[in-house]
Amino acid sequence: MQRFKALLASKSEPSGQAVAWQELGENDLMAGDVVVRVSHSTINYKDGLAITGKVPVIRRWPMIPGIDFAGSVVSSSHAAFKAGDEVILNGWGVGEAHFGGYAQMARVKGEWLVKKPAQFSPAESMAIGTAGYTAMLCVLALERHGLQPGQGPVLVTGAAGGVGSVAIALLAKLGFQVIASTGRTAEANYLKGLGAAEIIDRAELAGRARPLGKERWAGAVDAVGSNTLANALSMTTYGGTVAACGLAQGMDLATSVAPFILRGVTLAGIDSVMAPTSVRIEAWGRLARDLDLAKLKAMTVTRPATDVMTLAPDILAGKIRGRVVLELG
Ligand code: NDP
Repeated sequence: MQRFKALLASKSEPSGQAVAWQELGENDLMAGDVVVRVSHSTINYKDGLAITGKVPVIRRWPMIPGIDFAGSVVSSSHAAFKAGDEVILNGWGVGEAHFGGYAQMARVKGEWLVKKPAQFSPAESMAIGTAGYTAMLCVLALERHGLQPGQGPVLVTGAAGGVGSVAIALLAKLGFQVIASTGRTAEANYLKGLGAAEIIDRAELAGRARPLGKERWAGAVDAVGSNTLANALSMTTYGGTVAACGLAQGMDLATSVAPFILRGVTLAGIDSVMAPTSVRIEAWGRLARDLDLAKLKAMTVTRPATDVMTLAPDILAGKIRGRVVLELG
């Protein structure tokens, strides 16, 4: 039986959890109808939480973290997949309740997989990863609520992070004027290179929000939550939409009904984990159409998967710029 390397998180006292690379066999994998040889994964904010144990993301022990992966099918009893198919997995509780992407092999339910668009290599699909796919879900939500480039600028918060970087590139390609909010104003050139027209210091949005502020943007992609989201809402122009996907500042939301009942603002919630397959296929199809590969390259670094232990605290500290691809090979 083929052996492979996997990062295993186990319960341990007194620190709470121990995380280490181990050698496993296919029989150690959890139930599923498709076995995948994983070539690439990535680090998302949630992976940082799982590996450090800062927030109880892991719901079953022991666990292989990693909420997403790309690879090729080794064997399948699912009708939609056959050996050799190149696939992507994002979410569905993988890396939380089902063994995830930080392993050279995975066994999962076929219904969780999406066929990798031909436009992307496996590494590029993980450069996008769950962060980029979520950025696309946010853009789709803004479009669904009628936002068009002529209506005004779009705010992107957490701009230098993964969701933020991909959102800027997508929105700029679609013709929107992007206002990037960042704590790393030294990264202005990076953000402008991705397509941001204006950079604001995130400190402007970090304090408690007034019920209504000056109208500054027609829409927003918010990866930050808390006061930042409240300020994004209170400064959205009449009839605009804010897509909320993240909590990098916090889970709280101290806002009022004023933006909703006096300006008709829509707050669109974005969940990537349990999004239905039809939505995922739409999002990956739109990424293939609307994401500039040169910009994806500019926001991505590639590291061996073993670096994930040092990357985990870094992503929680907001030290990672853009996206990191992890090689499992
Ligand atoms: P990153 O860490 O790459 O980006 C988060 C960014 O938020 C940082 O780079 C930083 O940007 C900013 N930030 C960090 N801390 C603070 C703070 N205290 N106050 C204000 N801004 C802060 O993470 P991702 O892009 O991968 O994920 C972003 C968020 O989206 C996370 O909360 C994540 O959990 C969530 N998410 C949700 C998904 C869903 O399905 N709803 C799916 C994927 C992600 P800068 O330096 O530019 O200020």
